[in-house]
Amino acid sequence: MDKNVSEDTLKALKDIRHGKDDAIKKLAETSGGEGSAFGQLLNNPFFTAGFGLAALGAAVRYSSSGLRKATELLRRRMLVDLEITRHDESYEWVLNWMTAHYQHQLAPVGRRKDVGTLEYLMRRFTPALHHLQIKTAVSRTASGSEQTAFSLVPGHGRHIMRYGNAYVVVNRERIGKSFDSNGRPFETISLTTLYYYRHIFEDIFREAHEMAVQSTEGKTIVYTTRGMAWEPSGQPKRRRPFESVVLEQGLAERILGDVREFLDARTWYLDRGIPYRRGYLLHGPPGTGKTSFVQALAGSLDFNIAMLSLSQRGLTDDLLNHLLLNVPARTIVLLEDADAAFSNRRQQDSEGYSGANVTYSGLLNALDGVASAEERIIFMTTNHIDRLDEALIRPGRVDMTVHLGHATEWQIGQLWDRFYAQHDPEGEGRQRFVAKAKAAGLIDNVSTAALQAAARYQDSKRPTFAIS
Ligand code: ADP
Repeated sequence: MDKNVSEDTLKALKDIRHGKDDAIKKLAETSGGEGSAFGQLLNNPFFTAGFGLAALGAAVRYSSSGLRKATELLRRRMLVDLEITRHDESYEWVLNWMTAHYQHQLAPVGRRKDVGTLEYLMRRFTPALHHLQIKTAVSRTASGSEQTAFSLVPGHGRHIMRYGNAYVVVNRERIGKSFDSNGRPFETISLTTLYYYRHIFEDIFREAHEMAVQSTEGKTIVYTTRGMAWEPSGQPKRRRPFESVVLEQGLAERILGDVREFLDARTWYLDRGIPYRRGYLLHGPPGTGKTSFVQALAGSLDFNIAMLSLSQRGLTDDLLNHLLLNVPARTIVLLEDADAAFSNRRQQDSEGYSGANVTYSGLLNALDGVASAEERIIFMTTNHIDRLDEALIRPGRVDMTVHLGHATEWQIGQLWDRFYAQHDPEGEGRQRFVAKAKAAGLIDNVSTAALQAAARYQDSKRPTFAIS
């Protein structure tokens, strides 16, 4: 190959690089024409076919990456995403909203003309639309019976929903393999729609929030512990009317007044740097309305309740501390069996036991540690006040101690009225009933729960309390 030829070849190669037309042809010529080895190669149909394929491959690669970029650009320009993580409060609202919204979209696909061609095709050919999860809510009624409600929620994967005129792609996915402290996987829901319809997110959130508010309106959410966190126990319960719990005359109103005063004094506490919390101790025999009163109080203040028994196994000092620091907003904490922490202390002293139970110092630390800009109302109950330590009943830990005793004459009369007032306008029945209770030695001697249980309708017209 002479010098000129190689220079020309170099030039042709450069031209190819710069994408000049018929450069390949020139390369063949400059490489010594048809007779040269390279020229022959280029004239070889197998070689040129291979070359063509390679070029085609490169072109496809180039165009597919171009297509990707273009799609990405288009996506960025035309679509809008919104991501909600499981830890956000709105996660459950949106999932519930989707569930409600889905019920009709889950119906078997009807005729094309009923739903429109686009929706028909989407619903027919989107497999994830059929991927559902079952959500079971078990709640226990006061009588101990269980009520179970099932609902279908969109499972993991991609779903397409129609909202007004817009189509929304909903992607529910797990993130990684880790689990939160309650053993639930981390996950997110992302909603994607056309940029043009971006305003619908606001509407969706408003609806989801309204739905969440409606489902709890006039109701009390009862939180219990699950793992390391508070979880609603079953469906929100209908508020317990304040008057339904009959305490000694004026007592219920006195406690309610104290809580209201505390709630109104937020700035007073914060300005003076005093932890904004108030503790109450209700003590007395079982069945005198301690738990019921806190439920009724929460209802009348429009608060929820977070319930925890200190005798609950597996409840450690650290866990109690963690739970008290992470109480949901507008929630009264109800710590039952407060004496359990003190009997554990005895157990610990005599047997050196320090297993998974709350200790006395653990309870005091947890109560003292509660510091929050939000109000913290803590009610403790015990059937054995004598087992408690003086250190607990001190302002800041327990600000008000209330004894709920056996039914007094006044309470017995009130309980009668609660059941039978409309059948006994003159109050004669009540007088007879109280007299009978007195004669039976029940005054200050029977729990209100036992009296309540004794209420029997023997005859719908002439109901009587059965006192045996
Ligand atoms: P405690 O917590 O003191 O053991 P509960 O609040 O659990 O008592 O009461 C048990 C049952 O008795 C509940 O169904 C409740 O309605 C009824 N009860 C107890 N005390 C009263 C009361 N003072 N007024 C109305 N109902 C009561």
